[in-house]
Amino acid sequence: MDTAEIRRRFVAHFEAAGHTVVPSASLLADDPNLLFVPAGMVPFKPFFLGQETPPYTRATSIQKCVRTPDIEDVGKTTRHGTFFEMCGNFSFGDYFKEGAIELAWELLTKPVEDGGYGLDESRLYPSVLVGDDEAIGYWMKATGLPRERIVQLGNKENYWSMGVPGPGGPCSEILYDRGPEWGPDFDVATLGPDMPFELEDRLLEIWNLVFMQDELSAVRSKEDFDISGSLPKKNIDTGMGLDRVALLLQGKQNMYEIDVVYPVIAKAEELTGKRYGDDAQDDVRFRVVADHVRSSMMLIGDGVTPGNDGRGYVLRRLLRRAVRSMRLLGCEDRVLPELMPVSRDRMGETYDNLVSDWPRISQVAFAEEDAFRKTLQAGTQIFDQAAGEVRSGGSTVLPGDRAFALHDTFGFPIDLTLEMASEAGLTVDEAGFRALMVEQRERAKADARAKKGSHSDTGVYRGILDDFGPTEWLAYETLQTESRPLALLREGIAVATLAPGEIGELVLDRTPFYAESGGQVADAGVIDFDGGQLEVLDVQRPIKGLVVHQVRVVDGELGAGGAKALLHARVDPEWRIGARQAHSGTHVVHAALREVLGPRALQSGSYNRPGYLRLDFGWTTGLSPEQVRDIEQVSNNALRADLAVGADYMTLEQAKEWGAIALFGETYDNSKVRVVEIGGPWSRELCGGTHVSHSSQIGTIVVTGEASVGSGNRRIEAFTGVEGFAYLARERDVVGQLTGLLKTQPDDLVGRVGDLVERLRQAEKEIEKGRVAQLLAGAGQLASSATRVGDVHVVAQRADGASGGDVRTLALDVRSRMSPSEPGVVVIIGGVEGKVAVVAALNDEARSRGLSANDLVRAVGALLGGKGGGKDDVAQGGGTDASRIDEALAQVLAEVARA
Ligand code: ATP
Ligand code: MG
Repeated sequence: MDTAEIRRRFVAHFEAAGHTVVPSASLLADDPNLLFVPAGMVPFKPFFLGQETPPYTRATSIQKCVRTPDIEDVGKTTRHGTFFEMCGNFSFGDYFKEGAIELAWELLTKPVEDGGYGLDESRLYPSVLVGDDEAIGYWMKATGLPRERIVQLGNKENYWSMGVPGPGGPCSEILYDRGPEWGPDFDVATLGPDMPFELEDRLLEIWNLVFMQDELSAVRSKEDFDISGSLPKKNIDTGMGLDRVALLLQGKQNMYEIDVVYPVIAKAEELTGKRYGDDAQDDVRFRVVADHVRSSMMLIGDGVTPGNDGRGYVLRRLLRRAVRSMRLLGCEDRVLPELMPVSRDRMGETYDNLVSDWPRISQVAFAEEDAFRKTLQAGTQIFDQAAGEVRSGGSTVLPGDRAFALHDTFGFPIDLTLEMASEAGLTVDEAGFRALMVEQRERAKADARAKKGSHSDTGVYRGILDDFGPTEWLAYETLQTESRPLALLREGIAVATLAPGEIGELVLDRTPFYAESGGQVADAGVIDFDGGQLEVLDVQRPIKGLVVHQVRVVDGELGAGGAKALLHARVDPEWRIGARQAHSGTHVVHAALREVLGPRALQSGSYNRPGYLRLDFGWTTGLSPEQVRDIEQVSNNALRADLAVGADYMTLEQAKEWGAIALFGETYDNSKVRVVEIGGPWSRELCGGTHVSHSSQIGTIVVTGEASVGSGNRRIEAFTGVEGFAYLARERDVVGQLTGLLKTQPDDLVGRVGDLVERLRQAEKEIEKGRVAQLLAGAGQLASSATRVGDVHVVAQRADGASGGDVRTLALDVRSRMSPSEPGVVVIIGGVEGKVAVVAALNDEARSRGLSANDLVRAVGALLGGKGGGKDDVAQGGGTDASRIDEALAQVLAEVARA
């Protein structure tokens, strides 16, 4: 049964049972604690937590999931993908254990002719939490299986929580016995409390039913938590692995061989000339390729771009591992342009954005491969240098810190370093490398712990929200409100008063202040209270619905005159005007950008504050000065056209129909979204920011620059409003000063400066000529001051400041002035700007004694941290270590003496 059919049957089964079909959410979770959506329940979290009321009591979805912790298992187990799809059914206070068990069992075992999956009942093993007799009873009732067929597992396997206080409950996993070739025989009665590792591939977990019934007051680990009561409303959350069921129904060995994944393996076979199935290690690589190509494509599809931290880093790692695995399989060409379209063709049947957005997706992926290829090249150079040093130091072991630096700085995977080392006849101090990796991991863990600490603080805000409800937010309507203080915090702890100079957080019942979001910074302003004033430093919305002001007491003591007295909150009107100009300006520049570059140029991030804006967008090549000028011109034409700016609320569907640009990674309420438009369809974006009412109010847009901000992203910056004029005024000042200095007119300035630069260049050339002449003039004297080593005349001389060319001229000149009838050796070492240049020149007599310029330069080059070579009579080389020039000259004498 193909995956599409498995998918269709799942949805049909639950739809027939009264479930609302909910489309998959983006992989980018609307949750600061999650990098990606790892399970089908995530989009429903607000319902499970009781923060929002679900519009239905039963729902079903097939959710795209990415689990980064499973990356190391990919290809090694048969069942772990970094990307996979989770089919789920959810009940919000509706059916519970019995209903969930019946629905799952029916779909799994119903014959294929009747719309089920037709799995063999004798191979299915339900598992429950030890002692969950209720679940055991329902399983026996639903399946007719005896009690002895039901596996009882401990908390580690079969208790679910979110790792924090809140809902929790026992699980019931459905396992499928794949038979003795996948693991040892087992006895249900003695299985558990943990699932033995060697049985995990035999007893394949295909579905997990979570019975949310408990209220947890503390969670210390998966197995150590406190149940403080039962949930008023019991919920069901289930997850069936689509890819795992597909592998069973398609009779495959593992999830990388199913219909929507395998074609990539087949393509990789074609590209590498290797056969899948021939070699265990290669097979793992084939599977990694198939998995990672798909995962990275799905991530880019949802708006992730490669980067050095967070989501971007995961994507980068996946892409690089795919490319790297192909190299290990023997293919060194660009591979993604061959492999990714194959994955697109299969996944695009379900996710049509992969097809419609292909130009952008492929551009991001292919650019990252190209960047990685360059990294490989640069890393190879660094490796060669390190290897050279190791060898000239008489060792064969590459130190751990060098391997670590390659890994850390150049993103060089250790296996690559190991492989290159062995090719170069070296080994690597792996223990040293691993010790450094452990250190780094500890640092990262400490960071993560620190971060977690701040997240748990949201508990305080959650409490305030529970007590007082959401903040009445009036930023769109007014700049001033009379507000009641609801809570006052200092360093996360509730306090009654704030003294002058102190900084704290203030929650009001209503506020006119804009909280930072969508790239727009928070409003500035003041809050007056009876007897004093607060300066507003920042405004944030740490959790949905709650606006929190960070304030500093300017004077008076807040809270002293009765905690509940009214306050007067005032946004600085000048600030707000500037903020509006900058935010509307951002939309204008975005629209202009797309007009000039085409609709593929899409904003990937933005930031705006009064007077200034910047906009990042996915684009791989630099813009020409003409393009930048065009963008600025189209923007300012839009201001001059005085376009109307307005905001409308509508459903996300309507907004999309309208062609509004919904930016990835932003989260939108599932109820209504706000669309801001400028000049009707000219610019339509989903946006919660504050805006001008006519484009002319932006004043001006002065684009100041365009630059790369990491792989596949560029940034454009501009000043708006008065700041724009001020920027132009500053430039005019500079021009004024220059014309004064050069006694010329603005129009002639460029010509004058050009002339000056040219004259300067000429003058430098003259000086250079003089210097060389002087150097060469010393040649005669050098020739006559030769040292004798045996009967060889040796000139070994340093010539600081002489370039490679000069050194060569000098060496040849000195040689020509030495007597041809006696053996003569000339070695000159010069150098400019940290580069050392060596030239050796020998006459025929010296060569007939077995001396060679090439040998001398090689010996000296190794000392100077470089290399070189040439012929017997003349050779040249270079290095980087100028501190060893004298040592190198001494070496020359020693070499001649030895010969
Ligand atoms: P496992 O122990 O096999 O890693 P899990 O306990 O992590 O599975 P759940 O978190 O319960 O799995 O997820 C629900 C279902 O999603 C699983 O029963 C399985 O079918 C599927 N699933 C989980 N992780 C993956 C993965 N990395 N790749 C493919 N399917 C997965
Ligand atoms: Mg798992």
